[in-house]
Order: sequence, then C-alpha cells, then structure tokens
Amino acid sequence: MTDFSPFEPSLWYATACEAPQTQPLNKEITCDVCIVGAGYTGLTTAIELSRRGVVVSVVEAREAGFGGSGRNAGHCTPTFAFLSLDQVRGHLGAERARRLIARQTGGADLAADYIRTYQISCEWKQNGFFQGILCPSQRAGLEAKCNAYAAAGCPSEMVDAAEAQRLTGSPRFLGGWMLRSGGHLNPLGYARGLARAAMQEGARLFTDSPMQELVREGSRWRVRTPGGSVLADRVIVATGAYTQGGGTGVERSYRILRALIAATNPLPAEARRRIVPFDGTMHDGRGDIFVYKYDAAGRIVASMFPMGRRGRDLDYTRELFMDRLRWLHPDLPADTRWDFYWSGELDMQRHTIPRLYDLGPGAVACTGLSGRGVPTGTMLGGILADWAQGTAEPDLALPVEPLRSAPAYMAIAPTMMLRWYRFRDRLAARRNGSALPPHA
Ligand SMILES: Cc1cc2nc3c(=O)[nH]c(=O)nc-3n(C[C@H](O)[C@H](O)[C@H](O)COP(=O)(O)OP(=O)(O)OC[C@H]3O[C@@H](n4cnc5c(N)ncnc54)[C@H](O)[C@@H]3O)c2cc1C
Repeated sequence: MTDFSPFEPSLWYATACEAPQTQPLNKEITCDVCIVGAGYTGLTTAIELSRRGVVVSVVEAREAGFGGSGRNAGHCTPTFAFLSLDQVRGHLGAERARRLIARQTGGADLAADYIRTYQISCEWKQNGFFQGILCPSQRAGLEAKCNAYAAAGCPSEMVDAAEAQRLTGSPRFLGGWMLRSGGHLNPLGYARGLARAAMQEGARLFTDSPMQELVREGSRWRVRTPGGSVLADRVIVATGAYTQGGGTGVERSYRILRALIAATNPLPAEARRRIVPFDGTMHDGRGDIFVYKYDAAGRIVASMFPMGRRGRDLDYTRELFMDRLRWLHPDLPADTRWDFYWSGELDMQRHTIPRLYDLGPGAVACTGLSGRGVPTGTMLGGILADWAQGTAEPDLALPVEPLRSAPAYMAIAPTMMLRWYRFRDRLAARRNGSALPPHA
C-alpha cells in the first residue's frame, strides 16, 4: 500500500477557503450514480450529472481535495504533459483524438467557467503559460509544439527574447512559447469550491467514508464503507494516484512518481513588478523542469521532480530550489526563503493520457491525469457524465479499456525518463555553449 505524503504541510492547506460541512456515510442509501473519490475528476462528474438531473452520491476516504487535487502546484496548463498532439492522435485515432484534444485544450476555460458560475474563491488567474528557450537547439521543438496547438485552435504563439524578458523579468531566455489560455489557482480552494458546487447542484458528499468493497448486486453495484453503503446503477471510481483499498485493483494500473513543491515568503510588490510581472505559469524550458507561479499573497510556488539527493535531503533540496530560482531571477530579494515545502504523488501510466478502465457492467475507473490534473480533471466530468448516461463507447472522447496492470518496466521508467531528460539538457547546453543552472 502506498505511503502517501502528508497533506497538512502544503501552502494550500494553510490558505485555502474552508471546506463545506460534510459527514461520513452512516446508513444504506440508493442513487443513480455513486462516485468514489472527491478530487477534480469525481467532483466535476458529480456537478455535470447533477445538473442533468441524475441522483449522485460521492464517497471520499478523507476530505474533498485530499489527493492530488488539494496539494498540486496549481498550474492549469491545458495541454498534454508528456505526449505531442500527434502522439495523442496515434493512440486514439483521428476522430476520438479530435474530441479529447478539444476538451483538454478547453480545460482552463472550463475551469474559469466553474469558478465564475459557483463563485469559487481559489485565486484564479488566466494570464497564460510561458515556456522558455534556454539554448538555441530547443527552439525548433518548441516551435513545432506551439504550431501544433495553434493549429488545434489555441491562443499559442512564439515570443522573442525581448518579449520573453518583458513577460518574465528573467534575462535568461532566448525566447519562448506563450499559451495564453493557461491559468493558475489555489488547488485546494478549487477542490473545495467544486465540492460546494456539487452539493449545491444536489449531489450528496460523504467524507471519511472510504470504499472498502465494490460488489455486484443484481443489476446494480453496492459500494461499502465502514458506516454504510450506497446501492447504485453505475459506479465511477475516481481515486487517482491516491487509490487506497476498495479491492478494484486500480492501483496496479499505474506507478507512483513523487513531485516536490516549495513556496517562498510573500515577495514585496516592487519585486513582483520585476519578477514574472505577467503573473502566469513559468516553465524554465528544461526537460528536468522547474515550474513556478505566484500565489495571491505574492509567494513564489515552485516545483520539480525528485532526483538523487533532491527530495531525499531537505536542506540540499531547499538550497537547490533557491539556486535555480535565483539563477533565473538574479534580482530576487536577498531575504527570499522557503516557508513551505511539501510533496505529493502522481499516477504515471504507460501512455500519459487519462484512461477509463472497465470494472464490470456499469462500473469504470479513471486514472492517468499525471501532471495535468487541473484542466484534465476539470474536463473529465463531462466525459464521465456522458458515459454514466449511456453514451455509446465509440462516441465517448476516451475509450473504455480492460483494466491492466502497468508493465513491469514502469517501476523504473518514470525515474529513468527524468534522468534521461537531465542528460539531454546537459548535452544541449554543452553543444550550444549555453549556461547551465546550478546543480544541473
Ligand atoms: C505534487 C503534485 C503537483 C502537481 N502539480 C500539478 C499542476 O500544477 N497542474 C496540474 O494540472 N496537475 C498537477 N498535478 C496533478 C493533479 O494534482 C492530479 O492529476 C489531479 O489532482 C488528480 O485528480 P483526481 O480527481 O483524478 O484524483 P485525486 O485528486 O487524487 O482524488 C482522488 C480522491 O480519491 C480518494 N480515495 C482514494 N481511495 C479511496 C477509497 N477507497 N474510497 C473513497 N475515496 C478514495 C482520495 O482520498 C482522494 O481524495 C500535481 C500532482 C501532485 C501530486
């Protein structure tokens, strides 16, 4: 069983709006659709189904947003994390990929729509996503990506060095990719707001109610929790990387990859006018990524993946994060420090697009959101609601696949991939005569 990172140390736990009042399930109830897991996927599905008049219950092991949805870095970048659009087409076929790409690239606008409709207090800003070019050989690949998203109808453009410096305040970039639809937010605030919205639409949410067992009962399913059970026509297991118990075997379909996040003290307004003045998502452009943004109080929230000592040795990790940030922004105030540090778990699939797994007649599981869960979990509600209402499988934006265990090589593949990316970064910098950040 996975030993999950603690929930409480995150910045979001300290600053998010309050969770709605909820109780554990303490009796036997019936409904049309039972959703297991109150992250973005489960909650947007509950909203969409409730809006369509379907009677929905959500059972959550801990609290709304306890999983990745409440502790992520807060970027809402409506792209695919590891696959190109052509690779998505290759996996899904042209027609299905067209539907999924439209939903994924619309994920940030849909989040904005939920936030507006339900007045969710979650520090939402939609000022764009910037990915930098640190050495000349990165340009062609990034341009191809930019063009692919532009061709898919996204507000996607390349910017030159002067514009990159104007947007980011960093003297390091030779240019970059700007995706104007990108947004960022307080992720736990968003999850709690979605929970409140689902309840407002009529869904019932039971917290501290882990599914212990899913059993077929006639033509329906019974979801058993310690205090009661839900009898439902359809069941959606949306437990992601935080799947625990339940007996469905969903956790065998992926491997966990940890991600690290740190947040500074609030920067003074004068520094914020110099450092990332466009106030969007920053991606430093390296394969061994360093991604950052502001929170509402002006703290910089930065994230990386663990590698070697990074993630194991706390002092070293804090120092590395600060050196990286200062390398990109030499004018960072001298008294900047990391006030918060936390980590969380991602579910890595062989193909990092969301996956729907068949658990039996009328039951599916959904995983594979990886590092794009904010837009992906937001848009999945529509797809899962379509599935629950009986849309034929070929007409869904995702296929429903048999539940398979992740291949054995996935035990090391994500870590090897990160090491390969770092090697590639070093090689590119050496070949181009470009500077490398500290600890690279
Ligand atoms: C450190 C980190 C940084 C990230 N950064 C970003 C980012 O910046 N942008 C981005 O888009 N994505 C990011 N992600 C990914 C994103 O957070 C996830 O992909 C997304 O939140 C997954 O949402 P979900 O609803 O599918 O699952 P989760 O949010 O993980 O929710 C699953 C829920 O199921 C519950 N559960 C588990 N087992 C049971 C059970 N037996 N019964 C009942 N309930 C159960 C859990 O308690 C949990 O609340 C990051 C993830 C991490 C960990």
